Amino acid sequence: MNIKKFISVLILVLTLSCAKYKEAQTWQKGNIHTHSLWSDGDDFPEMIIEWYKNHNYQFIALSDHNTVADTLIWYELRDRDQKNKTLEKYINRFGDWVETKMDSTRQLVRLKTFDEYKSKMEKPDSFLIIKSEEVTASFEKKPIHINVTNIQDLIEPIKGKSVLDVMQKTLDAVLTQRKELNVPMIAHINHPNFGYGIDTEDMKKLNGERFFEVYNGHPAVNNQGDEFHHDTETMWDLINIHYHKQGKPSMYGIATDDSHSYHEFSAKKSNTGRGWIMVNSKILSPSALISAMENGDFYASTGVALKKIQVDSKNLLIEILPEQGVNYEIVFIGYRKNQDEAQILKIEKGIKATYAFKENDIFVRATIYSDVKKDSPTGTTETKKAWTQPFFPQ
Ligand SMILES: [Zn+2]
Ligand SMILES: [Zn+2]
Repeated sequence: MNIKKFISVLILVLTLSCAKYKEAQTWQKGNIHTHSLWSDGDDFPEMIIEWYKNHNYQFIALSDHNTVADTLIWYELRDRDQKNKTLEKYINRFGDWVETKMDSTRQLVRLKTFDEYKSKMEKPDSFLIIKSEEVTASFEKKPIHINVTNIQDLIEPIKGKSVLDVMQKTLDAVLTQRKELNVPMIAHINHPNFGYGIDTEDMKKLNGERFFEVYNGHPAVNNQGDEFHHDTETMWDLINIHYHKQGKPSMYGIATDDSHSYHEFSAKKSNTGRGWIMVNSKILSPSALISAMENGDFYASTGVALKKIQVDSKNLLIEILPEQGVNYEIVFIGYRKNQDEAQILKIEKGIKATYAFKENDIFVRATIYSDVKKDSPTGTTETKKAWTQPFFPQ
């Protein structure tokens, strides 16, 4: 191919690959990390799903620990549940749908399976329920939790000879299931700094991982790191610099609630509504959402809503859907050729900003800050934010 032809093919490829970002975007809001009574959450699946349905979400995945909610379980109510009036609230809302029985001492309630709660609560084209599991393993007491969104068959926690080995084997099990069943599913690394179980170096060495939690709403997960551990945003950039050097596809950032507590709302509890993803997809189905996510066509949020993310070979444009009286700052962060770390490339105040790619830019992403407190913060200083995925201009 001569150079002229090569350049025209290159331009065509770039135009086609960027074209999707020029259309009006349809943002589907979802949370893919949640717990119910199937593991250590404190409410029934239908009640939790109802909360998300009533708060303008379009999809939810209940990701209970090491279960896909497909067995016969008679749940024994605990003191905590009596105090929270969990069954009373469930019966008030769902009436005859609720199945209870008594054993010698306590009341038992049957947990509806995934198929049951999905068919009861899902609403075609407006609210989707995706099957999920938080594969919950550990190595020498270090927690290793990996969510599998749109999993079909249970994956048992896997043992290994290191944190990396456990992670890679879990990831391989997901990729094997995906291939065997020909069903799209994604594995994402949960809260790497929870118990400081997973560090940047572990994630750098993985093969085939595309997603991790840049934000998790559980108060015990150390998103901010400490003097010995990277915060999750620093991790993210270091991983993507390494992946780029290795020729691996980039890692994308997700925000989730990791909600467990549905009766008491406080900074110390893991509550709903703290972190979510907005996926650009006209179709509301697991395969359409996963396909968009694998293209990096989504953003993570803890409260800031974006109207538009537009990227072509020259510019990255961000436009915010503003709340009244709130001030915003759009910070472009990127990695440039021959540097060791990512750096701030441009900061702009206001609701719209464009970054023009420079010749040496390898990838650029944006973190959008606001000066308004989150609706249900885990700390007093937490403000609403959003994160775009990294874009590679060349
Ligand atoms: Zn976890
Ligand atoms: Zn969790």
